[in-house]
Amino acid sequence: MTSKGGGKDRGGQDRSAPFTVSRRILLGPGPSNVHPRVLDALAQPLLGHLDPEFLALADDTQALLRETFRTTNAVTFPVSGTGSAGMESCFVNLIEPGDRVLVCVNGVFGNRMADVAARSGAEVARVEAPWGRAMDPDAVLSAGRQFGPKIIAMVHAETSTGALTPIPPIAAAARACGALLVADTVTSLAGIPVEVDLWGVDACYSGTQKCLSCPPGLAPVSYSSTAIEAVRARKSRVASWYLDLTMLTRYWSDDRVYHHTAPISMIYALREALRLVQEEGLEARWARHALHHRALAAGLEAMELSLVVPGEERLPQLNAIAVPEGVEDAPVRRRLLEEFGIEIGAGLGVFQGKVWRVGLMGYSASRENVLALLEALGVILPAQGHRVEALAGVDAAEKLYRDAGA
Ligand SMILES: *Cc1c(COP(=O)(O)O)cnc(C)c1O
Repeated sequence: MTSKGGGKDRGGQDRSAPFTVSRRILLGPGPSNVHPRVLDALAQPLLGHLDPEFLALADDTQALLRETFRTTNAVTFPVSGTGSAGMESCFVNLIEPGDRVLVCVNGVFGNRMADVAARSGAEVARVEAPWGRAMDPDAVLSAGRQFGPKIIAMVHAETSTGALTPIPPIAAAARACGALLVADTVTSLAGIPVEVDLWGVDACYSGTQKCLSCPPGLAPVSYSSTAIEAVRARKSRVASWYLDLTMLTRYWSDDRVYHHTAPISMIYALREALRLVQEEGLEARWARHALHHRALAAGLEAMELSLVVPGEERLPQLNAIAVPEGVEDAPVRRRLLEEFGIEIGAGLGVFQGKVWRVGLMGYSASRENVLALLEALGVILPAQGHRVEALAGVDAAEKLYRDAGA
């Protein structure tokens, strides 16, 4: 893959010519594949960020985001930056120095929340669950009662492990403690139900490159009126100029006052990705993610591969597979990419070298992709020491699709 010198880049391309990239089937933890209509949107000519024509597109994008988050929150907009910028937005705006934040940690992203909250000046306490498991709401409630936090923060869909923590019981714990609930919905939004208003989420953030199937670069956020009151009641200024909601909401409202240049092309892309979500319908989209997860799980089981998360706590859009005994992690992923054009994710943190993470997110969640992956694993795994019949996985998945009438 790597070539040296002579005006060639790392992909072996000639720098004096325009570049082309390989087609990949993106089945990792994000980014997911992007619909051609979203790519077309990216290629539209630029408008200025204060041009009325662009502002109308920005209005549409915010309205579509509210529908997708299932909220009427006025402060709902895409933060410039990836999902982690959405995380920073929530903490840096809601925390003043010394505020107490209780963070639920059951994987990499809960850890990152605790780090970001501490950097924002919070006194942080953690309540933990084992990797690969959901949080226990009773443990969160008793930790909350003891600690008395201003905020309880949780990850809805822990992409590092594939575990789903239902929001309503954690939201109830937050209410019982008089705390605001901050939820990471980066991997959940548009893949499984996210009900911001119904569940009483005070602030949440997402990312564009997971189940929304848009390129990475924006972090949709939504703040309840209670959360906005907390921001307005601050005694100190927000430590980040770039993410300061007290200024940003003047652009992302009818005022449309310049703060920083909106990432125009990404907003075109997000608007189109959200239109695709609404065209399909959220319920149908959740059902599609569930179906392809079940087909993949059936195929994996037939290949004697196991998922690390217990059945009822599994995310359909992120499948953490235990690397079988005697098989090396990296060569399998390398062959998938090089010979089959399929990207899957490696394990992170305590799961490093021990799991493969298979994302079935947004446009990537399809029968074609599930079957392609199972077929490729059927070729690669026996050669790497896991003795299974090559087509066992494909056959089991096909049977599941037939039985589901799909
Ligand atoms: C991907 C992800 C993030 C971080 O998003 P970036 O776009 O990589 O900054 C945060 N939380 C969860 C749960 C994620 O899956």
